[in-house]
Amino acid sequence: MSDELREAIATRIGASGPMSLAEYMAECLLHPRHGYYARREPFGAGGDFVTAPEISQLFGEIVGAFMIHVWRQAGRPAPFALAEAGPGRGTLMADMLRTARLDPEFRAAARVVLIEASERLRGVQRARLGDDGADAQWVDTIAALPGLPTFLVANEFFDALPIRQFVNTAGGWRERMVGLDDRGALHFVAGPGGIDPALLPPGHGDAPEGAIFETSPAREAAAAELAAHIARHGGLALVFDYGHLQPGIGDTFQAVRDHAYADPLAAPGRADLTSHVDFAALARAARQAGAHVPAAMTQGAFLLASGMAERAGALGAGKSGPEQAAIVAAVERLCGEDEGGMGALFKVMGIAHPRLGRPIVPFELPA
Ligand code: SAH
Repeated sequence: MSDELREAIATRIGASGPMSLAEYMAECLLHPRHGYYARREPFGAGGDFVTAPEISQLFGEIVGAFMIHVWRQAGRPAPFALAEAGPGRGTLMADMLRTARLDPEFRAAARVVLIEASERLRGVQRARLGDDGADAQWVDTIAALPGLPTFLVANEFFDALPIRQFVNTAGGWRERMVGLDDRGALHFVAGPGGIDPALLPPGHGDAPEGAIFETSPAREAAAAELAAHIARHGGLALVFDYGHLQPGIGDTFQAVRDHAYADPLAAPGRADLTSHVDFAALARAARQAGAHVPAAMTQGAFLLASGMAERAGALGAGKSGPEQAAIVAAVERLCGEDEGGMGALFKVMGIAHPRLGRPIVPFELPA
């Protein structure tokens, strides 16, 4: 099997030296011809990983009901952008739009906007939305969102944005980079020293040799841009991803292929590359850009407080035993906090207009 992306990366490293993980991730995921999203069908049982909206329609239904609720709370602005960043197969938006039929005024005011970098996935999303997406609009970046009050969801979008890593060596902190070993294989190397301490976490001075610290200027910039858009035009963004609420030291850079962890350097463009999202860093960036950001919570707590168990009961009513068992299993997978469940590993954060009516339930308690 030809490995053009690996060859292209190796040639570039040979010519100009090691590349940062950020550059490596961007090449592997987004290369227009050989990148992961351009050529793999990552999602679902036959792909590399399963995401929440692909587990059950309940996920998109609960998110859709939440969006209707906050849109009412914001004073029912019309028109508004009903947006999604990184829509994958389009399942979440399709399930939200079906739920939106419950409120014809909401549906009529919604302009559907999808932020998607991959041409191939845009086609998949268009087909999935069908008539519901007849006047949907696709844009490349958050910056290209229309100047309307915006109600946006992003599921597993931020984890795909590039990260940088720093490693503590005997010679001080250095950027962790991708280089070539003497047999021409890709491997991790420590780049030049002289790292700006502002890039490093508080307390990095006490970290042991070999400690790795991650940061993602790309994710923080995306959160700031989204927050600035919402602070200017109104609305709310809901960000779901796996990650941690407190920053920490550690290497979470990972590759997933065929539902199993793989070596991130082994097959560029053939495995999904992600890392855990630092929600504290996103919240800081979004607040600095002028948004109101309530404390993030776990996905399980959010979905259950938003009525997922009740919705599951309604969906299961009158269905066969095996169908009901499948619905219960989906709720456990989405909300369960034990191993195999996404409920605790996944977090959700709201980025709201500062004058959106409070409390924002379920992030904030009802008065
Ligand atoms: N939300 C979907 C898919 C998550 S995968 C789900 O839950 O199933 C990540 C998605 O983000 C893909 O659609 C990918 O093409 C898109 N994406 C990744 N990086 C992007 C970028 N820099 N700009 C726009 N879209 C991007």
